[in-house]
Amino acid sequence: MYKAFLLKYGEIGVKGKNRHLFEDALVRDIERVLRRVEGDFKVSKESGRIFAVAGSDFDYDEAIGALSKVFGLVWICPVVQIEDKGFKDLSANVIEYIDKAYPDKNFTFKVDARRARKDYELNSMQINEELGHDLLERFPEMKVDVHDPDVLISVEVRNMINIYSKAIRGPGGMPTGTAGSAMLLLSGGIDSPVAGYMIAKRGVKISAVYFHAPPYTSERAKQKVVDLARIVSSYCGEIELNIIDFTEIQLEIYKQCPHDEMTIIMRRVMMRIAQELADESGCMGLITGESIGQVASQTMHGLYCTNAVCKMPVYRPLIAFDKQDIVSMAEKIGTYETSIQPFEDCCTIFVAKHPVTKPRLNVIEKHEKALEKVLDDMVAKAIENVEKVICDG
Ligand code: ATP
Ligand code: MG
Repeated sequence: MYKAFLLKYGEIGVKGKNRHLFEDALVRDIERVLRRVEGDFKVSKESGRIFAVAGSDFDYDEAIGALSKVFGLVWICPVVQIEDKGFKDLSANVIEYIDKAYPDKNFTFKVDARRARKDYELNSMQINEELGHDLLERFPEMKVDVHDPDVLISVEVRNMINIYSKAIRGPGGMPTGTAGSAMLLLSGGIDSPVAGYMIAKRGVKISAVYFHAPPYTSERAKQKVVDLARIVSSYCGEIELNIIDFTEIQLEIYKQCPHDEMTIIMRRVMMRIAQELADESGCMGLITGESIGQVASQTMHGLYCTNAVCKMPVYRPLIAFDKQDIVSMAEKIGTYETSIQPFEDCCTIFVAKHPVTKPRLNVIEKHEKALEKVLDDMVAKAIENVEKVICDG
């Protein structure tokens, strides 16, 4: 029945001279997801609205599924589009639409007409009245309720006339890249993919870095991270994943530093490397999945010590989330099943039995001095040998 979608976006950030940038980015994102759906869609903008019109048959659920992943969309409305052949024809089409869309006619309704061009033969009020009248005549079971209707029947008179009454919620947020870019520290865990999703939803283009420690962490663990990046990219578009071989650095820390400080020191080196990669690729910040108190290294003291090496903003969208809430989000966005696959990530292998929960920065810095001579070279080498994988789900 539907050949087109009317796509509505929110008002935030779309005012003024940036509006067209926002809209163009949104159109690109919509085109990107629809390219994977059969249907040969044409996407266009028309005064505050975006339309995706199918050029051939398509799978309705698949198209809705794809559009539901586009950040910036607030409502996805399947529409019936007709040419203007006079009001009689419009009325007949609305009646046919209602008949097909609602087999059971026991509901209240209101017609909400809008004229985007003033040369239409009736004005909005007249369209409302005439259509209401025609519908009641044809379907006496239906009743009008102008205050709280079960079904709001919208008719928008534009180049084409659009008839719709159903709306599926989009994810909201901002189109990809409209807010700049950031480097996500992506492990194989539950948290960091959710953190990446949340920041990406605000219009941030994501790059990612994974610290891999072969042979202590397996190829499967690495593949899991690639898979996670791919799932996140199915929302926000292509993610360049930087895979850093961290083994040498980790072994050196293990050799030179107190084991109960291992995680914090490792995390500090990760942040350093992530920042260099971020700088190289024009990212304006880092993103982690850290959450206060979740593990020993994420106490306020731990976060303080980790953060002390960071020169750029670190975005921690999960900082105040309980684990269960993070799990629910991971399930919703589809990363959970992949995250819980049982492949060790590098931290779990070198983790001490009793890590410090209240590390002191001056103590950590003192112990890091043991690494001083070799660390710069090791970091430079790790960055030089980075493996880059383009993830595009
Ligand atoms: P996650 O579920 O995201 O792995 P976590 O609860 O396991 O989080 P930690 O392992 O303490 O927490 O890691 C805290 C954050 O540090 C992660 O959310 C992630 O952003 C980053 N991180 C940890 N390990 C790695 C890694 N091997 N590669 C990239 N980033 C990592
Ligand atoms: Mg982890």
